[in-house]
Amino acid sequence: MLMLAGALLPGFGAEAARRGQAITVILTDDQPELQLGPSMQSREDAGGRLDATAALATPAADWRAMRTASINFGFSTSAWWTRVTLRNATGHDVERILDLGSSLLDHVDIHVLRPDGTQLQGMSGGDRLPFAHRSENVRTIAMHLHIPAGQEVTVLMRCQSHDGLNEIITPTLYTPQAFTAHVQLETLAFGIYYGLLATVLLYNLFLYASTRQTVFGVYAAYVGCFLLWGLVFRGYAFQYWWPDSPNFNNQALAVIVSALYMSLGLFLMKYLDTAHSVPRALHRFAAITTAAQGLCFLPAFLNLYSATFILNSLIGSVEIIGLTTIIGVLVIQQKSKAGRYAGLAFATLTIAALLYYLRVLGFVPANALTDNLLQIGSAAEALLLAFGVADQMNTLKTAKLHAERQALAAQTALNTQLESLVSSRTAELEMANERLANLAITDELTGVYNRRQFNKDLAAAVALHTRHQTPAALCLLDVDHFKAYNDRYGHPAGDEVLRQIATALRQQLQRASDHVYRVGGEEFAILLDINEPPDKVMRFITQMLAAVQGLGIPHEGSPFGIVSVSMGLVILKAQGAPRTATELYSAADALLYQAKQAGRNQVISQTLD
Ligand code: GH3
Ligand code: MG
Ligand code: MG
Repeated sequence: MLMLAGALLPGFGAEAARRGQAITVILTDDQPELQLGPSMQSREDAGGRLDATAALATPAADWRAMRTASINFGFSTSAWWTRVTLRNATGHDVERILDLGSSLLDHVDIHVLRPDGTQLQGMSGGDRLPFAHRSENVRTIAMHLHIPAGQEVTVLMRCQSHDGLNEIITPTLYTPQAFTAHVQLETLAFGIYYGLLATVLLYNLFLYASTRQTVFGVYAAYVGCFLLWGLVFRGYAFQYWWPDSPNFNNQALAVIVSALYMSLGLFLMKYLDTAHSVPRALHRFAAITTAAQGLCFLPAFLNLYSATFILNSLIGSVEIIGLTTIIGVLVIQQKSKAGRYAGLAFATLTIAALLYYLRVLGFVPANALTDNLLQIGSAAEALLLAFGVADQMNTLKTAKLHAERQALAAQTALNTQLESLVSSRTAELEMANERLANLAITDELTGVYNRRQFNKDLAAAVALHTRHQTPAALCLLDVDHFKAYNDRYGHPAGDEVLRQIATALRQQLQRASDHVYRVGGEEFAILLDINEPPDKVMRFITQMLAAVQGLGIPHEGSPFGIVSVSMGLVILKAQGAPRTATELYSAADALLYQAKQAGRNQVISQTLD
């Protein structure tokens, strides 16, 4: 962009203030490096028709003095002639290297002329000719000069661009030793510089390969374009990779510049997440201008170098304005960290570019630092962006770690909750099971044990008696005239009587091992765990009979006037003969029958030996 701005200010470097005779530079032995720009004069050759002799014959008034070390012919299709006279005052022949410091000039012809106008030396170069045309095997356009002792020569140079765009040149005269040292130092410095970029590129490629994070991929593309642009722009690519393809070299540069803008746009959009972080219109603007860089490829392939250059500078400017606005929004409105990194990177490059332009205009001294300000600034920009990406990844990682910790804590809490839920459910289930088990052995109507439990307990009592000769007592009980009760008072009232009898019987029981069972409709059984003499047991059972009478439930259908029961009691003595449950039951049942026969409302008992 700055180069374009320079081009639009025609002949800014060609100062018209001083005109006149060619300036003579005295060559002495103590000038290893001499900048010729300030001593040069230039002359425009609008049609480009002059030859060396005609150019030299131009009136003195047509020559304009340059003032700066860097010469900029601006955007012009004319041929430009420069001249400077060198006088060898050393007393011996001197060898010098004239280095133009640029590798991108299209056409350069250098004539070294004697005072009488005859040519001492000549060279045709420029990046529109194969590399082999150059006299020196270096990346820049340079020529070896031989100036005999005491001689004065005029270096007449003709520069013309392919299609109007002239590169800035910095003509410098070196002694061969100084030139070698300069090239060596420069090669070392660029080697380190490009090595650094290549490392950053490879590192990000590896990061991309291992993490699959697109931002690393686009960043690698950006650094890759930047590295390639540097190698082509500085002439290394032409010197080493395609020395016989000058056209390709020019096209490659144009395409790479567009690719550089594109990858920068893509990277910043991805890195700053413009799809989500800024208003939709800004994101679209960045996307469209970034994509529009692709338009520049066409003129490049048609060999219209300057059209490409102008197009990508214009689109690039609009793109950069969009990206800068995005960064501004992110930094000012959202205080985004990524935005700050990008802003810092952009600011660094902008300051470096401004300083470089000031150096091109001669306001800042030309030296190794200022000459390479664009390189230094853009490398600093690229590295700052790399730091930004690394920082973002770090932030994401920390956030991820935090989220993982939270997830773990939540999971632990959930587990604890689950465990307590399971244990409380287990307890509930156990209770339900217990209730169910109780239900299975309980008579629904009266709440005493049912027939099933009776069978079990009777079998156990008989088994205990058989094995340990323990005593046992079984009493069967039947309500008297109960059918009549039902008929007289109704079935629900009969049910209530059964309940009252069951409760009364249960209240009489004194030990935990004594139980009442409902074994049939209005029939109950009582199993007693005894260790008393039979008459005591008989008394106890008689008390139970009395307890039923004590309820005093009126029964008009009974000769007793109240509800009564009949009982058959069997007592198994300790050390008695083994009996089966059926035997015991049948015996009790027979006794109950006898009690009925004998008039009801009584107990008949029998002790089995
Ligand atoms: P007895 O035993 O004194 O010889 O005369 P009874 O009328 O009790 O004779 P039986 O044993 O033949 O009759 C039993 C009656 O008990 C028949 C039935 O109506 C009644 N019964 C049986 N189970 C239930 C019950 O669960 N509820 C009610 N309300 N009545 C029942
Ligand atoms: Mg009965
Ligand atoms: Mg009965």
